Amino acid sequence: MIKSPLIQTVLPGPRAVEFLQKDRAHVSPSYTRSYPLVAEEGRGVWIRDVDGNVFLDFTAGIAVCSTGHCHPKVIEAVKDQAERLLHMSGADFYYPPQIALAEKLSSLMPGEGDKKVFFGNSGTEAVEGAFKLARWHTKRKLNIAFYGGFHGRTMGSLSLTASKNVQKKRYDPFVPGVTHVPYAYCYRCDYNLRYPECGLECVRWIEDSLFRTTISPEDVAAIIIEPIQGEGGYVVPPPDYHKELYAIAKKYGILFVVDEVQSGMGRTGKMFAIEHFGVLPDIISVAKGIASGLPLGAILAPSKIMDWETGSHSTTFGGNPLACRAALVTIELLEKTLMANADVQGNRLLSGLRNLQKVYESMGDVRGKGLMAAVELVKDRHTRKPHETLRDDIIQRAFRKGLLLLGCGKSSIRFCPALTVSADEIEVCISIFDEVLGEVSG
Ligand code: PLP
Repeated sequence: MIKSPLIQTVLPGPRAVEFLQKDRAHVSPSYTRSYPLVAEEGRGVWIRDVDGNVFLDFTAGIAVCSTGHCHPKVIEAVKDQAERLLHMSGADFYYPPQIALAEKLSSLMPGEGDKKVFFGNSGTEAVEGAFKLARWHTKRKLNIAFYGGFHGRTMGSLSLTASKNVQKKRYDPFVPGVTHVPYAYCYRCDYNLRYPECGLECVRWIEDSLFRTTISPEDVAAIIIEPIQGEGGYVVPPPDYHKELYAIAKKYGILFVVDEVQSGMGRTGKMFAIEHFGVLPDIISVAKGIASGLPLGAILAPSKIMDWETGSHSTTFGGNPLACRAALVTIELLEKTLMANADVQGNRLLSGLRNLQKVYESMGDVRGKGLMAAVELVKDRHTRKPHETLRDDIIQRAFRKGLLLLGCGKSSIRFCPALTVSADEIEVCISIFDEVLGEVSG
């Protein structure tokens, strides 16, 4: 059992340097690597690089490896499936793992009645498909999405995304009919108000201003929203936010579509983050954590909404048998212990970070639900001016001490380890983070 990181070369080490040179020569420069980790093996929350250095992984491959790296039960299922059938295409044929997974996911979607599932390979496809389904079902053309939202990079999803300019630059024109509105990012309220005195102005504005001036609510197909914003900064909205938005959606026959690609599959301590907010979404998009690292995305909807006709939406690879088997095991593990562990360890993580916040002025905000936690770095607590360079420096220093972290939002750091993470591993993370903050604050 590994207990702490082990860094035994300069970073990057000699073998890593060779790979990095080849990568630079042959791999697209559009990827956003924060530091030169060249991974070779993973177990649980631990990653060994090509030079034998061992890192504590609080990224889980961007919130994907929910059951930890290479969980033995996932490996067993994938090996078994690999010997039976690698591919047949659910677009044109049937195979048991896909049907079994659809049945399981249908049963997990909150709300009464029959549900149906469409399978893709990624988060962006799961959102893209939900976007299309909402148009199909409602026969309406407009959509509302949110500043800070990230929904993926294919043209439909990218049209909904409003996270970073670099993601959209030179790619317009986008799919028409998407209006972005402010999210309930209370630490940096777009309306300069304070919750709860604000009365959720960010929700009221949609009905009182947007729907009165530029958009007819009867033309809106869907409100497409992350229950907790991910790339936007792990932003947790106030408890009544989604209920209020949902009420507007229902009033005008608008579908409430939740993008659970990052927040879903147990990460927040519930299967879907929207379950913390007491509303029943019309469509759910999931991916990332669903199959412990195998590529899989899914759209979940009541059968009366997933009513598109044969041939109207399909894909060759989506719902691949290996990925479906991995997902079935993943969900079993989540239900048995991991979701509960995400809740317990998430609270431990947040309280550890809040203790550090008492010491370090630069930790402007600490927020999260379960194992979806973030720290927002600021230049000073009073002005809340984002401190992006400090955030980047902390991530670099943590890497060199063997702790893998990722940024999000303008100046935040996210903590999204596998749901298998133990109390000791949380303590190791907090202690390295403390050490790094001590260095940069000294
Ligand atoms: N939606 C959300 C909320 C995400 O966080 C992401 C990826 O980070 C996506 C969609 C896109 O997923 P993918 O990168 O698998 O296409």
